Amino acid sequence: MENKTRSTTLYSGARRLVTGATRSKAKGLLNMLYTTAELSDILGVTRRALIDQWISEGLPYTQDAKRRYWFNGKAVAAWVTAYKHTRDYTIELGEGMALCLHCMEPVKMIDPKAKDGKRTQVLSGKCPQCGKGVTRFNGTRRASW
Ligand SMILES: [Zn+2]
Repeated sequence: MENKTRSTTLYSGARRLVTGATRSKAKGLLNMLYTTAELSDILGVTRRALIDQWISEGLPYTQDAKRRYWFNGKAVAAWVTAYKHTRDYTIELGEGMALCLHCMEPVKMIDPKAKDGKRTQVLSGKCPQCGKGVTRFNGTRRASW
């Protein structure tokens, strides 16, 4: 098997952070501060998703001296309403990296193994953050990683 290396690959797709159900739940938020746990319960979104994904997408928050997160209900509701349901994005994947569908971010695969499929090459390994399996497909038959 050829084993040339390529520094970056573009990965394109669509990401959905805010579902219709989440949006309607957010309408019930009050003009007060919520903890991550409370917001997670009310919206039905995991705490990790709030901290890792929503905040990086611009969710307004404040942090106290103990670095705990606080969210103003009205500000969250406004952000959720304004957030586009589906957003196109492009991620550059470096060598040996894959998009973890659990963390929704590019990660450096642990112990990647290459396999030759009929039309594609498959590289699979583990996500260093959540430990789940991640797979990277290469669309062209003889492309290199
Ligand atoms: Zn992961």
